[in-house]
Amino acid sequence: VNKVNKLYYVIPKKKNMYIFLTRRGLRGRNILSVAAAPFVVEKDIKINGFDVVSVPLFFPKLFNINLIKLKSVLKDLFGLILLKDIDFLFRNELKSGVFLKENKEEIPASCQAICLFSGGVDSYCGILQARERDPEVVGLFCAHSDQSKIISTVEQFSDGILTKRRIRLVKLSVPEIKAIGYSQMRGFLYFVSAAAWMDLLNAKKLIITEVGPTMYQPRFAYFDSVTLTAHPYVLRCAQKAIELLLGRKIELILPYENMTKAEIISICPDKHWLKKTLSCISQRFGKHDGTCYACVMRRLAFTAAGIEDVEYIRDPIVDPKANNANLIALLRYNQSYLMNYKEMRFFQIENIEMFKKYDLFRRFALDNITAIYKLIMSNQRVIKPVANIYKEVSKKLGTDIFEHRLEELQKGHIAPNFDLPFSF
Ligand SMILES: [Zn+2]
Repeated sequence: VNKVNKLYYVIPKKKNMYIFLTRRGLRGRNILSVAAAPFVVEKDIKINGFDVVSVPLFFPKLFNINLIKLKSVLKDLFGLILLKDIDFLFRNELKSGVFLKENKEEIPASCQAICLFSGGVDSYCGILQARERDPEVVGLFCAHSDQSKIISTVEQFSDGILTKRRIRLVKLSVPEIKAIGYSQMRGFLYFVSAAAWMDLLNAKKLIITEVGPTMYQPRFAYFDSVTLTAHPYVLRCAQKAIELLLGRKIELILPYENMTKAEIISICPDKHWLKKTLSCISQRFGKHDGTCYACVMRRLAFTAAGIEDVEYIRDPIVDPKANNANLIALLRYNQSYLMNYKEMRFFQIENIEMFKKYDLFRRFALDNITAIYKLIMSNQRVIKPVANIYKEVSKKLGTDIFEHRLEELQKGHIAPNFDLPFSF
């Protein structure tokens, strides 16, 4: 006997969500329901075992959605990312209904492209660069109501630099994150939710500013936040789901797919606001703890690029008392990559081999060791394990390689790709 998890989707009673209660937002309402389903299910899949998920749709017949294909996309997503065999079915939630009256001035004019914005480093650089290429680009922020620090950070950006650069930002309310920490289905939630606005604005491109090494990071690494948020499998499932729900083809643009974080911030058009971006996984307090994987990656990238950074509560590079598990795991990984790639285990390089990202991960490894080189050259004391990694790498490769890397970063030698859509 199959155990069915019956989901409900209720439009949050918020001004920014009003449009999805009108006739014009009906397709978007269906899109939001499908986008939220995997995210909501992932949260209680471990607690309540079930094999079938029932997803609500509203007047689905009006849109001629191929539900058989949509179901197989969701099944694939769970198989590929969570390694779970879950079946999906769709039910017609509303047979008759009343739509609220449309409020015309709420909707911006049509545009070509929507760019996801989260208040993080990459999406901040991404939205500015997208705007330089396309003056009509609309930013989209997916707000979890229980992440008030991020919401207020994004509001500061919206009222500040984004207004100054005449970038429009719309906000979608998505389900709460609660205490789950991280979720593999977050990417799917954001990408597919964005299609609700792609429908309203008739947009054909969705710009996702994920940084390359995070996209392709090893599935089973030692870092504390290995998420497959924008893994190519997730992107492929999201694109298929969006096209089925919109009933038309779209393009995913991943401008930073072949760039490292240090390369991205090196070419950021307005570096001053980088200090206001949030990266830490403990975002509840709006501060940077300095020890989580996201903080470590950020700190090393800013150091290598020579750009003023946020303040960190702890500094595991110099403080022997700070938790350095993520820092050391990352540097050891980078060291192996530069010194003995052939001896690395399959799970460490699976994605690099499959998607041919050798050079991207070489530059990523170099950025991080170059950051340590810079600190040591400026007479900064670093903890012993970090000093040892640096000694072993520089003994084998010399130090010219770090100087050369610093020059490359200064020059901004890698350009983002806003033109060619992502393909698999
Ligand atoms: Zn952190």
